[in-house]
Parts: sequence; C-alpha cells; structure tokens
Amino acid sequence: MKLTIGHLYPDLLNLYGDRGNIQCFRKRLEWRGIEAEVIPFLSGDEIDFTKLDIVLLGGGSDREQELVCGFLQDIKDDFKNYVEDGGVVLAVCGGYQLLGKYYKTDKKTIEGLGVLNITTDWEPERLIRDIVLESPLFDRPVVGFENHGGRTEIGEHEPFGKVTYGFGNTGKSGYEGVVYKNVIATYLHGPLLPKNPHVCDYLLERALKRKYGEDAVLTLLTDEMEQKANDYIVERYNDKKYVLKET
Ligand code: GLN
Repeated sequence: MKLTIGHLYPDLLNLYGDRGNIQCFRKRLEWRGIEAEVIPFLSGDEIDFTKLDIVLLGGGSDREQELVCGFLQDIKDDFKNYVEDGGVVLAVCGGYQLLGKYYKTDKKTIEGLGVLNITTDWEPERLIRDIVLESPLFDRPVVGFENHGGRTEIGEHEPFGKVTYGFGNTGKSGYEGVVYKNVIATYLHGPLLPKNPHVCDYLLERALKRKYGEDAVLTLLTDEMEQKANDYIVERYNDKKYVLKET
C-alpha cells in the first residue's frame, strides 16, 4: 500500500513546526511497511488533487495568509471536490482559518476556500497557551499549543473537541476546531501529530480506507515516547480550569 501526502505551500504556511506533522505521517506509515510519498507544493505550483490521499495546510502569519489567499482562489474548486469526495485534510491554525469563508483582520478581509461554513474575525489580544481537548473521536486527550488572534465561529459544524484547558475557537465557546467529513481543522500547532499519535493514525486510516477499502487497517505501534509526551501535558494541566475569557 502507498499514500501520497500533499504539503501545501510550505514556503509560506510553516509556523511552529507544522512540518513535523508531515514527518509523523511518513514515519508512522513506514513503520507499518506502507510506502509514503510527500509532495511539497510551493505557492503557484499546479496541484492535481486526484493524486493525493492526505493534504496538510499549515499555519501562517497574517501576511503569509494574505499571500496564500491568491493561490487558493485558483485551486478552490479542486480542493472542495477533494474534500467532498472524502479526501483527508489536516489544516492547522492559519490553514484552518483559510478553509472558511473569510479571515478578517483590522486591515483586510482575506477570502478563504469556503470548504467549511465558518468565519474568523481577528482581535488584538492573541490567544496563546498550551491546550488540552477531549474529542469524541478519541478515548485519549488531544494536546497542543495555540497562538492565534483570530476567533473562529463554526456555526453548525461539529467541533474537533471540547476544551478542558486553553482557549479554543473563540476563547469563549469552550470548543476547538472542526471535523467535517475527513477534514480535521484545528488551532493546535505543536506539532500536533507527534504528541497525538492517535490523531495521526485516525487520519492515516481514513486515507487508507478511502483508497483501499474498509478492510485496510493499521497495525498497532507501542507509542511509549509519544504517550509520555501526551501525558506530560495532560498531567500538567489536569487540575487547572478551562480558561474562559471575560465577555
Ligand atoms: N494569522 C492567524 C492568527 O493570528 C493564524 C496564526 C497562526 O497560524 N498561528 O489568527
């Protein structure tokens, strides 16, 4: 078996080690004897989504998001078709915002892909800290680090998780991210996947099943180190309360 991973715009969307997510996808496939091909698409490159099994859209500053916005408009329809067809996507922070309708700062409105029915408005106070979630997709917590000025309203969408520590989508709603079809969109940087191997395997398995059918499964890995990294964050914030912003 083989999966092809498209890394979108690593020249612009590359904050806080988002690239580590690519390494994690690749390694966890290789450890199971599954071939992994990673294709970095630089801004302006042509992208054939029919060749891709997983897409990573990382985080970026407002300036980089604005630059990316132009390239996204060219691939909007193909990206949408890929998502509607069950294509696997991990979108992080700036990438998450860009999946929505718009990201509005004090200076500009950056048009998104409109893949998700969400909107993001910037506020000057940034939401920065470690974050812990409970996600209905997993029986283990999801941990990460968030740093965003944007507040994302997710409307009717399913959130990725409930915030047990940290800020999340708005700092007020108590929820973080969005899950839609085979898309996970989240503010969690970190990189997200090495500390959350269960999230990585969830996405890999969705991609394998889409390509090879429901019988395709991943063998279990021991994940001793990965679990330690996850436990460390969970334990550190165990007795702390969810941080609600004042209204
Ligand atoms: N520029 C966006 C914000 O501040 C996203 C930042 C990021 O990707 N960390 O909300």
